[in-house]
Amino acid sequence: MQRLDLKVGFSCNSRCVFCVQGDKRSRVEPRTTAQLLATLEEKRSLCHEVVFTGGEVTLRNDLPSLVRAAVELGYERIQVQTNGRLLSRMELVDGLLDAGVTEFSPALHGANSATHDGLTNARGSFRQTVRGIANLRRRGALVCLNSVIVKQNAGQLAEMARLFVQLDVSQFQFAFVHALGSAGTHFESVVPRYRDIQQQLHQALAIGQAAGVRCMTEAVPLCWMKEWEEFVAERIMPDLALVEPDREVPSYTDYRLRLGKAHGPPCEDCTWSHRCEGPWREYPERFGWEEFVGRRDACP
Ligand code: SF4
Repeated sequence: MQRLDLKVGFSCNSRCVFCVQGDKRSRVEPRTTAQLLATLEEKRSLCHEVVFTGGEVTLRNDLPSLVRAAVELGYERIQVQTNGRLLSRMELVDGLLDAGVTEFSPALHGANSATHDGLTNARGSFRQTVRGIANLRRRGALVCLNSVIVKQNAGQLAEMARLFVQLDVSQFQFAFVHALGSAGTHFESVVPRYRDIQQQLHQALAIGQAAGVRCMTEAVPLCWMKEWEEFVAERIMPDLALVEPDREVPSYTDYRLRLGKAHGPPCEDCTWSHRCEGPWREYPERFGWEEFVGRRDACP
């Protein structure tokens, strides 16, 4: 069984400099309630979990009714992926929990407002999302936090991990920026080098591990994760059926492996290559493969 990744539309109240959806908010019409209900019904025989995502899903008034429909159809896990800003209103948190959301995945991209608000282009967004996470935890909700690693926060990953532990999140994930959409447009200013983030990233994971908080990385190849391999999210990611307003991808795992990620010359005799997806292909297309060194240690 797969997880349904249901993109409701691309409207958003933030404007992140690294948004992979780029300018789709102005080009692509959001899906209607009826279309989304039809997709939930149609995909149920293939999928037992659903993630409502966008764009910003909490901007939609029909979100609680869509969640209720997912519950009635028997989806076992129902996740809301959000920038977390509107969750600063407790009545929205309560409404979504009453409807049947089983987990929330809000996003924080900095250890402070200067960094986070600078990246989201939304003044006050750090304060709102932090309050949203506090509201969720006050209600005992499962919080799987997501952070995108970019140049602007590369020096504060450890500090961010300390904040996440302090916020009592259930798990956190650091995803290396995918240089598509706005991140592709702003490549020079947002995409860091793996060699420059490795130390901070391992420190951040050590902080989560010491606090007993589940933590992971995404899109960080295994040559940068020596002795931290168990923290690589791709190892345990479920396959997604992706439904967007403008396209469908029946298996996101297949798409990611065939078209999204890349292997290069250093991977040819790397002992871990069969376990490693490699970087998003846009990274070596811009920086080359010189930075990568195939591993020689035994892969269990
Ligand atoms: S050299 Fe290639 S296959 Fe080996 S760990 Fe690095 S990116 Fe992965």
